[in-house]
Amino acid sequence: MENSTDRDHDCVRCGKCKALCPTYNETADESMSPRGRLMLLKALEQDNETALAVLQKIFSCMLCGSCDKSCPLGVSVTSHIYEARSNLIQLDKNKKLLSMLVKIVFQHPDLYFKLLRLLQRIGLPKIKNSHNPLRIIDEMGIELAADTLRREGMLYKSSRKRGRVALFLGCSVNYIYPHIGRQLIQTLTAIGYDIVVPSSEVCCGAPHLSVGLKKEAAINAEKNITAFGKLRVEAVISLCPTCTDFLKNIYPNLVGAAMPNVMDISEFILSNSLCDSLTSSAAYKNKKIMFHDPCHSLFKLNLKKEPREILRRSGLTLTEPRERGCCGLAGAFKLLYTDISNSILEKRKDNYSDADLIVTSCPNCIIQLKAGLKDKEIKHIAEMLLPNNS
Ligand code: SF4
Ligand code: SF4
Repeated sequence: MENSTDRDHDCVRCGKCKALCPTYNETADESMSPRGRLMLLKALEQDNETALAVLQKIFSCMLCGSCDKSCPLGVSVTSHIYEARSNLIQLDKNKKLLSMLVKIVFQHPDLYFKLLRLLQRIGLPKIKNSHNPLRIIDEMGIELAADTLRREGMLYKSSRKRGRVALFLGCSVNYIYPHIGRQLIQTLTAIGYDIVVPSSEVCCGAPHLSVGLKKEAAINAEKNITAFGKLRVEAVISLCPTCTDFLKNIYPNLVGAAMPNVMDISEFILSNSLCDSLTSSAAYKNKKIMFHDPCHSLFKLNLKKEPREILRRSGLTLTEPRERGCCGLAGAFKLLYTDISNSILEKRKDNYSDADLIVTSCPNCIIQLKAGLKDKEIKHIAEMLLPNNS
């Protein structure tokens, strides 16, 4: 989150940021565009009565970051959105309730995700409130894992001595797809890395900040920086681009420091020249594979060619979709704007219709793509890589 006090005055309303804005492209509504949202925020300064209406539009932003990247003047639209959410959330009782829920659940996530899993097994209560997260969990068929990884708090030792790294799992990998983390641990220990998975990792803070909980996001940032700062590792590898963006780019503005040496898995592999040590399963070599770019990889981490290069060098052939774009999930957006989210997902379905297998680097994109493309295999890039013993 850039320090944005006065940056809105830099906006010259050229509209360049609208080109890749998923909510504008879906609705053709100026108030759902980056430029429109900035204008609404300006209007808010003059007329407080419009605040509630403005808040709805501010929450319709997916925080994808494509506008930040495309603005020629460097206006950080997302910084304004984060700031406005934190200032305005008290105005809407449903959104306030949502932020309270995020705060409670992520204070004791082990307890609440365990409880949620139990509820899933006996049948989720059907609460008729469109802001009820259980509705989305149910509709999307999200299954919580029994064997989370973070709680184990382990050091996985390699018999070879190439290096020592830590894994930042993120909540989606930890509570929904821990097998992705386990696969990466297996691969990296086999090629010579000791891996530390600290039990003291907490949520990166993205869910908090997205619902206006700035103070709580900062508390989590401090906890993670302290927890990982003690580990004496050469890199912290993250399996989720939203977490990576937070640890690298948002923490400095929240608490004045980034987490040192954080890398997306692709950056880590390429910067340590590990491609020759990795391969992929023969089972995938004849499949038609497409790579889905998570928004935060493209627009916040500037990673596009890197994952493709790694997959190609592991022996796979990639085909490009006709058109790239957002999966449509975006955390609370899915809950608040389910119809738009589903309609964005429909576009991806069309674009990926020729693929047998879709690979991505974000566990949250996997959740959404799995819900929409039930006939396709969807994998995280970490699941595709095996040690090359040849
Ligand atoms: S935010 Fe940047 S790209 Fe968008 S209208 Fe303003 S100046 Fe143009
Ligand atoms: S972050 Fe994405 S959804 Fe939000 S205004 Fe910018 S381009 Fe649109």
